[in-house]
Amino acid sequence: MKDKIISINSVTKRFPVGNGEFTALSNINLQIGRGEFAGLVGPSGSGKTTLLNIIGSLDSPTEGKAEVMGRSISELSHKESARLRNLHIGFIFQVYNLLPVYTVFENVEFALILQDIAPAERKKRVMEALEWVGLESMAEKKPDKLSGGEGQRVAIARAMVKRPEILLADEPTANLDAKNAHHIMKTMKKLNEELKTTFLFSTHDEKVMSYLDRLIHLEDGKLAQDEIVEHEMSKQ
Ligand code: ADP
Ligand code: MG
Repeated sequence: MKDKIISINSVTKRFPVGNGEFTALSNINLQIGRGEFAGLVGPSGSGKTTLLNIIGSLDSPTEGKAEVMGRSISELSHKESARLRNLHIGFIFQVYNLLPVYTVFENVEFALILQDIAPAERKKRVMEALEWVGLESMAEKKPDKLSGGEGQRVAIARAMVKRPEILLADEPTANLDAKNAHHIMKTMKKLNEELKTTFLFSTHDEKVMSYLDRLIHLEDGKLAQDEIVEHEMSKQ
């Protein structure tokens, strides 16, 4: 694969439970190329979140090696893994956790505060990210004035405002109705094409799967199937 950005080599993850251990991931091998729009798919409990958390350097493998942008996750110091996440990896979760007392603008701006960016430049970047998701007119609203779909779109803007190389989205449509699910998938596909961001989803939602170019099937912590999807070209 040319230009791989994520490389998972013989990764096993075990969690201590009671007096024993539970194997959540078992000998996973997987490469993701730069600019892919791919998903980890499989039933609840199959290990999707565990693998996303390792790739996002929120957790590390028990055995094997997970490399993200050429860096081995288990060898990073606390500070280095925080830096990798802050600069290069965006996260979107099922529950988007916007800060209720701040405006939409401020919620997105927080993602940039840790970086040393002048206020005028910050404002430009935040408004651009809100335009990406079609919410520029909502900038001064508080999160409780938003619908669920709009809230998740703010979460996408918050994750994308840093222009991360990798966007990890854990069941991003789980709380959305069909119309909003399609809307946010179209938004993310557009960002994938325009910014060349690598997207990795975890999902068991058929609507999400229909947009993905690659379905990586997990079953009981094992990689069961790795499927490239051919989409029909529609040019009308
Ligand atoms: P999915 O995201 O596909 O639903 P998860 O990765 O969350 O699956 O979990 C995979 C399995 O690992 C599940 O059986 C879950 O109960 C178990 N698991 C996940 N995290 C922990 C943990 N911290 N301690 C013990 N077991 C865990
Ligand atoms: Mg999960």
